[in-house]
Amino acid sequence: MIDAKGPFPVLVSACLLGVNCRYDGGHSLCQELVRFLPRIWAVPVCPEQMGGLPTPRPPVDIVGGNGVDVLNGSARCISRTGEDVTRAFIKGAQEALKLARIAGANLFLGKGRSPSCGVRTPYCEGPDGEGLGVTVALLRQEGMEVLELDPEGPLPTSALMKYL
Ligand code: SF4
Repeated sequence: MIDAKGPFPVLVSACLLGVNCRYDGGHSLCQELVRFLPRIWAVPVCPEQMGGLPTPRPPVDIVGGNGVDVLNGSARCISRTGEDVTRAFIKGAQEALKLARIAGANLFLGKGRSPSCGVRTPYCEGPDGEGLGVTVALLRQEGMEVLELDPEGPLPTSALMKYL
């Protein structure tokens, strides 16, 4: 008989786990997160790859707002080579949400400073110069909690423990 209880499912930006999915072909491994892995069931997602974008790829800015505005159609995701990749960003966010639902995850650990996974990404035209990435905007819209991780910084352990 299968025991349905297990580690708490958490959606995680794949680059934080060492996957080479960043725009530049590298990763953003967070050693603190790796040390925490026995406590959670980490479900890795890279929304930009899952939206169909290649790796490496040109970096992207959100033009006309932030991730919330992309979802409501008033902002666009434009690569530094001028390509409009808005559809790929939205598709990647939807795929990440799909995986969260399959896994039963209500928490996303997102890599900071990303136009997809960041909570306060500078790569947008927010009023204060920082805004939500597209995937974060969709996951929050769907009721998920999001914590932003700096791969070099400390793990927000106390915030995390609230969910475990
Ligand atoms: S921040 Fe998100 S979209 Fe960017 S490489 Fe990491 S997982 Fe992929």
